Amino acid sequence: MPKVYFVIPCYNEEEVLEETMKRLRNKLDQLMADGKATPDSRMLFVDDGSKDRTWAIIEEKSQQDTLIGGVKLSRNRGHQNALLSGLMTAQQHGCDCVISLDADLQDDIEVIDEFIDKYMEGCEVVYGVRNSRKKDTFFKRTTAQGYYKFMKMLGVDIVYNHADYRLLGSKALEALSEYREVNLFLRGIVPLIGYRSDYVYYERQERFAGESKYPLKKMIRFAIDGITSFSVKPLKLISNLGIIMCVLSLIGFIYALVSYFMGVAQSGWASTICSIWFIGGLQMLCIGIVGSYVGKIYSEVKQRPRYRIEKELIAPENTHKDAAAE
Ligand code: UDP
Ligand code: MG
Repeated sequence: MPKVYFVIPCYNEEEVLEETMKRLRNKLDQLMADGKATPDSRMLFVDDGSKDRTWAIIEEKSQQDTLIGGVKLSRNRGHQNALLSGLMTAQQHGCDCVISLDADLQDDIEVIDEFIDKYMEGCEVVYGVRNSRKKDTFFKRTTAQGYYKFMKMLGVDIVYNHADYRLLGSKALEALSEYREVNLFLRGIVPLIGYRSDYVYYERQERFAGESKYPLKKMIRFAIDGITSFSVKPLKLISNLGIIMCVLSLIGFIYALVSYFMGVAQSGWASTICSIWFIGGLQMLCIGIVGSYVGKIYSEVKQRPRYRIEKELIAPENTHKDAAAE
């Protein structure tokens, strides 16, 4: 029987938190009753520097229920970092496997049994994959699918329609802890870990309360991070573009030379100015792309800590039975 940890990053989730805790508690009880989770399994809520009552709720509930644990980050560090801090905390508490979920329970928790079954069969990584995107808006659906295709094209190995709903075994967690990058994009890192993996399919629900904590701006930043953290193809693209430009300018040069010797009238002012603008723009674009990688190197070499845990509330083992007896 594995010791299971649920890890739930929460940012301003006061509207959904209590309901989420209730539903997950029921799920965990059922898993324990079915012999799929040990009694010292836990639900670990990570407060990602929320400005509302999120931490207050976690603190209160963790006092009432030993199965509820909490980690409070010292400030908002973003979903990926919050998730990582939870995963690493769970690992330090000696769990056998972790399941990461969003606080809004958009990901169907009824498939958790399947996750654990696959783990028991020997999988170290189990990916939760959405089998349709019917519930998404047209915009989100098309941009997301286009993004997955684009990533594939760039040679990045990510699982289609999989977000951060997954199970990781202790060996996978150990491996994950060795990835030291600051620009975290977990769904790109996890496939790099290896080990036996499998998929579980589910239907994604709508958020039952509150609103998305991923506004368009954050989503775009996240998407670009995914590309520049995992693919150097844009850099190669620049060199190719450079070669093409050289060839083109050579042709232009020959043309100018020929027209000079043939005594044709001066070439126009427009073409000169156009090419200046064009090349200027192109160079700017290329420098921009290079710059984004340099920026990455800059932040990676600094090796800044990716999160800082301010408080940790996890009841020690063996307390669950006592609490239940009371
Ligand atoms: N989240 C977080 N820190 C942030 C933004 C989001 O921990 O800075 C959490 C959030 O509380 C939720 C999960 O990340 O548990 C996914 O966010 P959300 O459901 O808003 O994203 P969406 O489902 O709209 O993509
Ligand atoms: Mg959500």
